[in-house]
Amino acid sequence: MVGMKPMPGVQITLVSDVSEAPYSGMLPGHIAGFYTHEEAHIDLRKLCVFAGARFVHATVVGMDPGAREVFIEGRAPLSFDLVSINIGSTPSWGGVPGAAEFATPSKPVPELLERWESIKADPSSVQNLVIVGGGAGGVELALAMEKQLGGGTCIRLIHAGEDILRWHNQGVRDRLGNILGERGIEVILQERVIEVTQDAVRISSGGKIAADVVFWVTQANAPAWLAEAGFPVDKDGFLIVDDTLQVKGFPQVFAAGDVASIARYPRPKSGVFAVRMAKPLLRNLRRLAAEKLPFPWRPQKGFLSLIGTADGSAVASRTLLAHASPLMWWWKDRIDRRFMEKFSRLPAMKIFTSDAVEDSAGRNDDLESLRRRAAMRCSGCAAKVGAPILSRVMDRIREERAGLENVEFPQVIAGIDDPDDAAILVVPSRKHLVQTIDYIPEIISDPYLFGRIAANHCLSDIFAMGAEAHSALCLVVAPFGAEAVMEESLFQALNGLTTALESMGVPLVGGHTAEGDRLALGISANGFIRADRATRKGGLRAGDLVILTKPLGTGCLFAAEMRLEAKAGWIDGAVASMLLDNLRASEILREHGAGAMTDVTGFGLLGHLAEMMKATESGGSYRVNSVGVELLMDHLPVLPGAVEVTSRGILSSLHHHNRSAFEAVENVDEFTDHEVFPLLVDPQTSGGLLAGVPEKGAADAVEALVAAGYSEARVVGRVLEMESDFPVVLG
Ligand SMILES: Cc1cc2nc3c(=O)[nH]c(=O)nc-3n(C[C@H](O)[C@H](O)[C@H](O)COP(=O)(O)OP(=O)(O)OC[C@H]3O[C@@H](n4cnc5c(N)ncnc54)[C@H](O)[C@@H]3O)c2cc1C
Repeated sequence: MVGMKPMPGVQITLVSDVSEAPYSGMLPGHIAGFYTHEEAHIDLRKLCVFAGARFVHATVVGMDPGAREVFIEGRAPLSFDLVSINIGSTPSWGGVPGAAEFATPSKPVPELLERWESIKADPSSVQNLVIVGGGAGGVELALAMEKQLGGGTCIRLIHAGEDILRWHNQGVRDRLGNILGERGIEVILQERVIEVTQDAVRISSGGKIAADVVFWVTQANAPAWLAEAGFPVDKDGFLIVDDTLQVKGFPQVFAAGDVASIARYPRPKSGVFAVRMAKPLLRNLRRLAAEKLPFPWRPQKGFLSLIGTADGSAVASRTLLAHASPLMWWWKDRIDRRFMEKFSRLPAMKIFTSDAVEDSAGRNDDLESLRRRAAMRCSGCAAKVGAPILSRVMDRIREERAGLENVEFPQVIAGIDDPDDAAILVVPSRKHLVQTIDYIPEIISDPYLFGRIAANHCLSDIFAMGAEAHSALCLVVAPFGAEAVMEESLFQALNGLTTALESMGVPLVGGHTAEGDRLALGISANGFIRADRATRKGGLRAGDLVILTKPLGTGCLFAAEMRLEAKAGWIDGAVASMLLDNLRASEILREHGAGAMTDVTGFGLLGHLAEMMKATESGGSYRVNSVGVELLMDHLPVLPGAVEVTSRGILSSLHHHNRSAFEAVENVDEFTDHEVFPLLVDPQTSGGLLAGVPEKGAADAVEALVAAGYSEARVVGRVLEMESDFPVVLG
């Protein structure tokens, strides 16, 4: 809804521990084999690109509503003006011994699906499967699993109540009870599971039931941190909210979905209610952002449930209705698919018009007035970010670092902790200074991760030389916006940057900030090396094997993301790769005798390889080279999704400039149809190192690289003795 009708001036951030949100309405159907993973999941990355929201792939572990901070696992808190908590619910272990250790809960869903995949891979290992909990979720799961496992596995459903499906009418209970019986699923009622062991569950009447696998689908509860944050909660830990969806006593905190219990209107935890809360939630978020009073909302009392039976039929349930038929499944399938299509078929381009924009930031900002304000921002030195913002950000950065170890840097006499007009640094004697600079605009919407990636990208040049990284300066361009929004972007980006730099032993010693259209980071890094120890680009020796430490494809994948054509999992893979720095890779390659090294960035693999070839022959021309490289196309590591997007013609905007590197290739025509061909010139952000290593050390080097976390490191070519106008041969 935000994508369709933006909220200019408001920075929206979605924090989620998964990048693909499972749609529980289709979950049993997915398990039964009716829907693919993709059909049953909402791609949150794509959705955020469409909605212009930042996506933070992380777990929330707490909140300080007074300080307006969300605590995120493993990184600094996020600040907010308004927050909405929609973290759902997880089945409660109820203090049952062994349950947390041996049972798999129905939520988080990724855990459930992982367990299910392992069962599917070896169904014969599961003779006895127990599902604990006879609500709609447990019943649907039992039927879906039976559909896949067939008669080979004995499935039992254990339920503490007198009958299954307590929120449904007797007719529905009877029908589903019969269907479970016909499908050979044993239903054990009025029994509580009181212990779970590796191969059995013990029940309240004292019996023991064999169980190779136990799924836990019991009543839900909420995480403890909600109460610890001081929010009012009910007996199961769910947030007590007013009919405006604001948490009682905390007007700036909203809650919706399973995690919210509306004090005036108690309702069962159900996706139907969760989805319906979206409209009133957004309406009230918009109203509060515009400093207007929120509207009350009243959820409907009842709703139609369609419970799939995993055999092409479904049972319809509402008040007194209990009707089972294939038509009901057809209907459910249609509703679910239409719902999911809203998230998968997003228009590739958003067209902003003034009348599509409502005032939202409480400052009567419409898009035009924001634009006007932006156009009137001064340039020159007046384009600096205001001193109060900067000083608050730097205080927060110092506060963050105060709790960390290893942030003492003896090489810094005056740096960001003791600021002056310029940094004063101690430089090692008898070494040479190695300097580099890079500037990259925001590649992902999470500014903290962007800061980390930018640091890796820039420091990579120092490591490619084999130098010791010493210090860095940065230029931050913060997107113009409301003060709080600018401050948060700046803080997150700088925090990411300093975190990554410090993990590589590098202090940030100063910098400059400016306002601009979009977040960008420029980093200048210093390193030191003994001149004779540098691994230069030149220096490839005939007989060396060429090693590449990271897979290719970041350029085309982010081009695809901008067009809403990339899958969340592909971007997750690219982000994970970019978050790996090249420090250890450089050490390993040098330890194994690397004679020439460079990092693969904007010019793509071939462009940087061509530079190595040029540098190897100091004349700077290919013509008189005495070595060449055979590049092994089938050995090139590529990121998941990269081949898919290039085969659809999606390429980075730099791609066509990089194609000039094909001039160095002898046999281009033979490989234009090879699936990785376009990736030879795909520009990389925070790409891997490319090095020539003596053949005898190459296998060990790759093994050490893989052990150090560069799981895709490979030998990708061989240096040949040859003289040719075209020093690269594809093989
Ligand atoms: C097997 C099964 C089948 C079901 N079938 C149906 C059905 O057919 N119809 C129906 O109406 N209901 C169904 N339900 C109930 C339904 O799943 C929930 O009511 C619904 O998902 C609630 O939506 P929600 O947005 O509140 O929470 P969720 O859908 O659970 O979403 C919460 C999201 O928050 C994320 N999250 C959680 N904690 C954190 C954290 N700390 N930090 C960051 N992110 C976090 C989670 O990964 C999750 O993606 C079913 C439930 C189960 C278990």
